Amino acid sequence: MRNVSSLYDLRTARLTLKGTIGLVPTMGYLHEGHLSLIKRAKEECEHVIVTIFVNPTQFGPNEDLSTYPRDLERDSSLIQSLGVELVWNPSVEVMYPPGYQTWVEVEALTRPLEGALRPTHFRGVTTVVAKLFNATQPDKAYFGQKDAQQAAVIRQMTRDLNFPIEIVVCPIVREADGLAMSSRNKYLSAEERKAAAVLFRALSAAKEAYEAGEREGELIRRKMKEVLAGEPLAQMQYVSCADYDTLAELDVIEGRTLLSMAVFLGKTRLIDNIVLG
Ligand code: AMP
Repeated sequence: MRNVSSLYDLRTARLTLKGTIGLVPTMGYLHEGHLSLIKRAKEECEHVIVTIFVNPTQFGPNEDLSTYPRDLERDSSLIQSLGVELVWNPSVEVMYPPGYQTWVEVEALTRPLEGALRPTHFRGVTTVVAKLFNATQPDKAYFGQKDAQQAAVIRQMTRDLNFPIEIVVCPIVREADGLAMSSRNKYLSAEERKAAAVLFRALSAAKEAYEAGEREGELIRRKMKEVLAGEPLAQMQYVSCADYDTLAELDVIEGRTLLSMAVFLGKTRLIDNIVLG
């Protein structure tokens, strides 16, 4: 496995890889969710490139950029054990050299949900992913359903900018109690960690209501709020019952639907979702 950080070394190493390339972009501090993406890429492509880059432009001014967990050594040994050829860990200066001024923005899809609360987040995500696509030239790129809006936005960007790349979205990997794996789970105290299972309980309760025939968006949202309200450590930021493709809030559920939420456990902001239909 080659670990490179400069753009020159990445390009040189990339040129030696013949055959299909799968890209797995990450911010590191890897867990089973990330590893599931890498394993899927290994199954479907001849070579896999993993990128590790805590992208400053997708963090807001009051977010956790400076405290975001990092452990490159552990990440490298996990990746190596999966038989990955190439790991790219660029510095901020490599990705955003002095004088940097070019941005990629997806419009309507970035406005609701996460975009409404984190107004510069998706511009940072799409810009860095476009740069990762250009540098690594993959045939397929792997993302997690955990960040459902991000996956939708990247699919849109890929189509709009004619990247010849297939976007593969992989299922959410969860802990035994249903908590979606996330690098940010490390921030949780023991009490908060226990309480964090409430996100999946709320999503599951709404799914049960849907399966029992409920189709009113507002009642589905209320169901999720009720369950979240039962956990005193959880502070809801939003719950959503939206069209899977447009992310517009639904009055009545008809087709494929995304139930999603953002919830604070203490200072830690967690997101989760589930798809209906
Ligand atoms: P991150 O390092 O948080 O930027 O995540 C890198 C990729 O891993 C993104 O495409 C995420 O959606 C995906 N991912 C994160 N957590 C999970 C999870 N629990 N299950 C599946 N994919 C995940």
